[in-house]
Amino acid sequence: MTDVCNDNNKKLLILGSTGSIGRSTCDCVRRFRERFSVAGMTAGTNVNLLIEQIREFSPSSIYITDKENADKVKGLFGDKIKIYRGNDGLERIVNETDYDILLNALVGAAGFKPTVAALKRGKRVALANKESLVIGGDCIRAVLRGDPLIPRLLPVDSEHSAILQCLQAGGGADAAESIIVTASGGPFRNLPKESFAAITPEQALRHPTWSMGKKITIDSATLMNKGFEVIEARHLFDFPYERIRVCVHPQSIVHSIVEFRDGAAIAQLGLPDMELPIQYALSWPERFPIPGKRLSLPDIGSLDFFEPDMDKFPCLKLCIEAGKIGGTAPAVINAANEVAVELFLNKKIGFTDIAKIVEEELNQHNPVKAISVNDIMEIDKDVRDRVSKNYNN
Ligand code: NAD
Ligand code: MG
Repeated sequence: MTDVCNDNNKKLLILGSTGSIGRSTCDCVRRFRERFSVAGMTAGTNVNLLIEQIREFSPSSIYITDKENADKVKGLFGDKIKIYRGNDGLERIVNETDYDILLNALVGAAGFKPTVAALKRGKRVALANKESLVIGGDCIRAVLRGDPLIPRLLPVDSEHSAILQCLQAGGGADAAESIIVTASGGPFRNLPKESFAAITPEQALRHPTWSMGKKITIDSATLMNKGFEVIEARHLFDFPYERIRVCVHPQSIVHSIVEFRDGAAIAQLGLPDMELPIQYALSWPERFPIPGKRLSLPDIGSLDFFEPDMDKFPCLKLCIEAGKIGGTAPAVINAANEVAVELFLNKKIGFTDIAKIVEEELNQHNPVKAISVNDIMEIDKDVRDRVSKNYNN
């Protein structure tokens, strides 16, 4: 594994800088001003935070979705900053900005094209946007022409950061037998199945161990997120599904485990905080210090592990099924899930309808090989349009 970024100061393009991962990435830049600078930042709608970030980090380029917000930024900064917006704005900022690492912290399928664009330019991607790999893992592997995804893509997701660290510690993927992705189990681990239909968005948004954006918090409550992470692991580490398992671990201290062929199991432990996985994706292969709280196992006392309950959490099963089917199937469940989560947050459907919608879409889909970005985005749009039409009234 070689480091494609030789410079001492790495220029970052942060997609989704106003979100949960984006804000933590800014904290990392604050800690290491001499190591990182910000070449570009993007926001969906939070123009006020974006303006604060521009003042603090002086990026040369920014993206914001709509014209009114773009005009507001232009009014304040004039020609000192290049402003992108609109449908192809994200891809353009990725293609035209001078940066070393793309930190992709967009949410959903919107992150896919920018990931591909950066990889095509030969850039490194620190990937929080797991949906890129879920819907387009095969496509991304084709873009990299069979080269290993790591270190062209470095995981920000805590489980995959842990797996990377375990693989490195244990002698590499060739010596590894299986990957065990841990899951907190979400807020409804102990809730009886009969009560699931009455779960409200407010309850589902209260995650027991992690503080995150809304969409991934709901995905964590349905365990769809864990299914996505299995697909993400399959592509990132080129591991077959048969050798990736999920283990529920409510304390979120063991971030994942790799079992090696001599029976050794190596785990990475730490407090549930995204600071480390974000920073490691940017500093790899080095480790930079993070001052502050440390893990105290005596304070935690005990760590628990359980098999996941696929009956209570059908999204996990559906997701792994779609991953094994491959081709366009994962893009279908991702699109169905994105719309369903939005409908649930807007109280148009119930919690258990999320899995029903995803299953309906998967069952009626005839998967085809998915290599081209346009094919994947077309399927994504079809599914979104149909689910929105069927349920949004
Ligand atoms: P978030 O909702 O807090 O932030 C998303 C960011 O993307 C915001 O800046 C928003 O403005 C921007 N955005 C959203 N849709 C957009 C669009 N269509 N066009 C342009 N910009 C858009 O989300 P988050 O929790 O930071 O998660 C980001 C990604 O990281 C997701 O893929 C998530 O699964 C993954 N992830 C998050 C965490 C976490 O702790 N938050 C952990 C692991 C992985
Ligand atoms: Mg995760």
